Amino acid sequence: QELVKRLNQTIENIPDFPIDGIQFKDISTIFLDHQLYKDVIADFVQFSKGKIDAVCGIESRGYLFGVAIASALEVPFILIRKAGKLPPPVISESYDLEYGSAVIETREGQIEKGQRILIHDDLLATGGTTEAAAKLVEKQGAEVSQFSFLIGLKDLKGDEKLKKFNAEIYRTLE
Ligand code: 5GP
Repeated sequence: QELVKRLNQTIENIPDFPIDGIQFKDISTIFLDHQLYKDVIADFVQFSKGKIDAVCGIESRGYLFGVAIASALEVPFILIRKAGKLPPPVISESYDLEYGSAVIETREGQIEKGQRILIHDDLLATGGTTEAAAKLVEKQGAEVSQFSFLIGLKDLKGDEKLKKFNAEIYRTLE
């Protein structure tokens, strides 16, 4: 559709960044075009309208759209951050990376039991980060109802890791 075409013309593909063999999608050009940004938000809002009680955004590019989605839907926005950035008390979840592991956190008490949560990030690759975010939400007694991403890289099969949460998945671009 039209939005997909405009995004494809705007997002830059950078070869061999940050390491050889990776094709990096640079989304920073979207924010130079305020009309495009508004249209992207409207598209995400349409997907989530009436279906969620709060938005969790994943550091850091997940905040760029996530806060605006939550604001438009008039629901809370909760920051999921890498370990050590949020002041205590926090709830943590660790997950494996290609080399080593990582920890993500939310501040305790910001997610409420029984809430229907949208987990949002800019890009779904292997799904490792998003899967950990969903576990972090569930262990606080909330329900992962939806996932949304600006870009979902199909080849990396990230959505297979997310199946077990029985949530709707939306990607603006594949
Ligand atoms: P995953 O855990 O699904 O493998 O990786 C997803 C995370 O890596 C997201 O938080 C996303 O921001 C980041 N990421 C990985 N590759 C890219 C890329 O090419 N472009 C952008 N903008 N982010 C990426």
